[in-house]
Amino acid sequence: MSKLPTDQHITYQLQYRKCGKPTCGTCKNGPGHGPYWYAYWREGTKLRSGYIGKTQPTAVSATNAERATQRLAAQAQRRVAVPVGAH
Ligand SMILES: [Zn+2]
Repeated sequence: MSKLPTDQHITYQLQYRKCGKPTCGTCKNGPGHGPYWYAYWREGTKLRSGYIGKTQPTAVSATNAERATQRLAAQAQRRVAVPVGAH
């Protein structure tokens, strides 16, 4: 895990990630690996991100954890809603 800054406002998000391996059944049959927690923050004009993992960071409140879970569910639903054959 990369070092997170302590003097920046950090946004935490739950996300699935594709590993990019063409033979990976997890990515082929689902949204990818995860969900894992990621941290996002700004460094000047750049948006930086850091991988956290499965464990919910202690800095995340129950409300924000709930919101992150809902956002993830909404993303998963949008993926399912894509018509078959639409590439
Ligand atoms: Zn994979």
